[in-house]
Amino acid sequence: MYPPKNVEFMKNMQKAHKDDDSCCLGIESSADDFGIGIARFNGEILANKYDSYIPSEGGIHPREAARHHSEVADKVLREALNTAGVKPNELSLIAFSQGPGLGPSLRTGATVARALASYLSIPLVGVNHSVAHIEIGKLKTGVVDPVTLYASGGNTLVTAFESGRYRVFGETLDIALGNCLDVFARAAGLKHQKGLPLGAAVELLAAKGKNLVSLPYVVKGMDLSLSGLLTSATAQLNEGKVCLEDLCYSLQEHAFSMVTEVTERALAHTEKKEVLLTGGVAANKRLQSMLNFIAQDHEAKFNVVPLEFATDNGAMIAWTGVLAYQHGLVTPMDESYVKLRWRVDKVDVPWIQ
Ligand code: AMP
Ligand code: MG
Repeated sequence: MYPPKNVEFMKNMQKAHKDDDSCCLGIESSADDFGIGIARFNGEILANKYDSYIPSEGGIHPREAARHHSEVADKVLREALNTAGVKPNELSLIAFSQGPGLGPSLRTGATVARALASYLSIPLVGVNHSVAHIEIGKLKTGVVDPVTLYASGGNTLVTAFESGRYRVFGETLDIALGNCLDVFARAAGLKHQKGLPLGAAVELLAAKGKNLVSLPYVVKGMDLSLSGLLTSATAQLNEGKVCLEDLCYSLQEHAFSMVTEVTERALAHTEKKEVLLTGGVAANKRLQSMLNFIAQDHEAKFNVVPLEFATDNGAMIAWTGVLAYQHGLVTPMDESYVKLRWRVDKVDVPWIQ
């Protein structure tokens, strides 16, 4: 049974509650990235290492991603511990990404997390991946109560804290923003050059685009839909009448305007004074400038998560594990199953007043 109620476990638990310099190791494995981060309980990030699965062709194959994660887990774990200068027996807590995400990928990280927690006799905390993207953004930028646009390869949502949870003010009804860019990039034959994500390749070409082509713009209430936009942009690509730079430019302008519109409406509704952009697509300068523009219009401060912590990473899981644990949350072993569709608004966040 877990947690093991032995003396060592109880001692570790008491120690972890007291010490600011206790360490949490966090494991992220929800999709294509396998990451391990180490955070002190005072918020210092000691290590943030990852290895990404890049498919030889097409999108993420869940079983291949899981195979990748199990092959690199040992290497990434050693790198993180070495960088942090922490020995395994100095860890006080293990956190892992429990969902949402791809089943085989999530299960691989959860298995590593369970093994470490059991072997070291320390508590285990399952963390919601979307909450973790918000919390690392808050930690690294200093924002307190933002309207957040979380845009990544698998998720696109606008959220803000209200009554104990991050509430969803708007979200994609179909594909995620990063996925839209990635699928278009693959259709255009773009490759991961020098380790750059496909979204970054689209961004580089978009910067050279001059003519805006009309594409579907679909905002329904507070939600948005990107699949029609992707289909139309891909059809125009195949027709070959519009150059790739103009198509990348037009795709970005339409997609980013949609998420910015929804974020602005959430800002107007909540009257919050901070906007946070997080997730892998946060790296995009054009998206940053659009959000900055609407934030200024509403006298709110715009913040973007630093690049190192934008894409999926273990540090965000470690830090959110600390927040949860310090507020009495642990995940018993028999409740540590992964939750593929674990929505952000189903998670209590007792660390926020
Ligand atoms: P994540 O799912 O958080 O790991 O983020 C990965 C997603 O971010 C992928 O869809 C990438 O193509 C996308 N991405 C990364 N850099 C950029 C960029 N500069 N512009 C647009 N999208 C990007
Ligand atoms: Mg990723």
